[in-house]
Amino acid sequence: MPVGHTLRAVENSEIADRLEAFAALLELADANPYTVRAYRRAAETIRGAAARVAELVRSGRARELRGIGPGIAARLRELVETGSIAELAELERDIAPDLVGLGRYLGLGARRSVEAARALGVRTADEFREAASAGRLGAVPGIGPKTEARLLEALAGGAEPRARRGLLLNRAWELVGGIAAAVGGEAAGDVRRWCDSCEQLAVVCATQEPAAELDRFAALPQIVALIERGERRAVGVTVEGVPVELVAAEPERFGAALVRATGSAAYAAALEPLPDAPDEEALYRALELPWCPPELRERPFRGEPPALVELGDIRGDLHSHTTWSDGRASVEEMARAARDRGYDYVAICDHTPAVGAVPGLTGDDVRRQAEEIAAANELLAPFRVLRGIECDILADGRLDLPDDVLAELDWVQASVHGGQRMPRREMTKRVEEALRNPHVCCLSHPKGRYINRRPENALDLDRVFEVALEERVALEVNGLPDRLDLSGEHVREALEAGVEVVCSTDSHSVRGLGNMELAVATARRGWAATANVLNTQPLGAILGRHPTRDNPDAGARQ
Ligand SMILES: [Zn+2]
Ligand SMILES: [Zn+2]
Repeated sequence: MPVGHTLRAVENSEIADRLEAFAALLELADANPYTVRAYRRAAETIRGAAARVAELVRSGRARELRGIGPGIAARLRELVETGSIAELAELERDIAPDLVGLGRYLGLGARRSVEAARALGVRTADEFREAASAGRLGAVPGIGPKTEARLLEALAGGAEPRARRGLLLNRAWELVGGIAAAVGGEAAGDVRRWCDSCEQLAVVCATQEPAAELDRFAALPQIVALIERGERRAVGVTVEGVPVELVAAEPERFGAALVRATGSAAYAAALEPLPDAPDEEALYRALELPWCPPELRERPFRGEPPALVELGDIRGDLHSHTTWSDGRASVEEMARAARDRGYDYVAICDHTPAVGAVPGLTGDDVRRQAEEIAAANELLAPFRVLRGIECDILADGRLDLPDDVLAELDWVQASVHGGQRMPRREMTKRVEEALRNPHVCCLSHPKGRYINRRPENALDLDRVFEVALEERVALEVNGLPDRLDLSGEHVREALEAGVEVVCSTDSHSVRGLGNMELAVATARRGWAATANVLNTQPLGAILGRHPTRDNPDAGARQ
């Protein structure tokens, strides 16, 4: 259970988890939706805070954090001082997260599963399963014979457990990585292949004592109920109803178990029969195949994998925001954080006015920001802060800032934000027009999708690749977990067309710079080598691509 145990380490992520659990239960208890949202937002803030929130709370400074009012501050104090929140414990007693998790997994939804449990007179997930297998579900108002059959089938297990709605990579890593660390195993499933949206979540560990390992798994705070338990395998669910599989492999078979649990199913099936092997390296050796990075395991593949780009190859981040637009950190803070990551450069690319929903920079603003960037450069040299912009592409393909302003800049990202419902021909023409502008260096989040929320823009990528190649414009692999745009598949198409990509974070905070890992993994899923990724190059090679005020002759176009 997530409550009750003392917060030993009191990491920000643990505090955030608790607040989120509280919000989830408040929601189920019909609390005011504004209160629920306030707790969720506070959890988000705490997750992203640079400072240790427990320290702030102890010194009475919790309210310095954005969005923390007196009510939430009091809860935080209680949590940090006593290790739990009394009301959360109370809600958990009443609402039984195991029932909620099981019900959500089954597609019943939280409220309906609580109601069904009440109608059945059961209090736990196990009792719910017993009642179901005794044929009592049909007596619950609202559950007809069809639903009952579906629920019984899902409860019987056997099928591949999948999340009903895919998890974004950052959340999937947090969940699966946390469980893997707790049981001393390895993250597997979709997350290990860095899929955009993770439905199959698995952890594999090697053990001689599987029963003890499965017990440990069942007792983890992330797991509220088991939906299946065998000798060496269990499936648990989170309170959100997300199923996570634990495979407790015999140590001499761990390699095969890891390959199978990593998937994809088609990739693993094509390697069968898998020999026994204690790790993946030994397994691939026994198959007389080179080891294959998980990012390349989407489709059956037995060849020599290319040398893929690695996080350590990245020399700078070319898309980041500051408080000048909708970022949370100053130019200097972002620059220092980028330098601390070992980069040589960072481009500050705030928005322009047409973006609408958030503040955008006019030409005058851009020139005022130049002073701040110059000051940061003086402080941080030889690290280099680039003057950049994320310039909106207007509906007619013109850019949102005049050319003379763009000409001053080191790095120009062009972005479609508004008017994304355009038909394909118009959208393609609009983007092509923008790429023809000689100051544009990179097309941001080219497809404009939000994973699981908004489909891709109708944009003819093949045409965009042609123009990008002619104009020496790079295409972005945006590392925001809900964008990952270009996707791996599109990266591969771009590289086949000869277009260069840039791995960027589009960070709006210091912490956001960490999403480079997601951008690089996505590029790897598109088979990108170091040479395909522009920001693995030293700064000179990047600035030399386009004529700028500082080096007007460089990279001149025919
Ligand atoms: Zn953008
Ligand atoms: Zn951006």
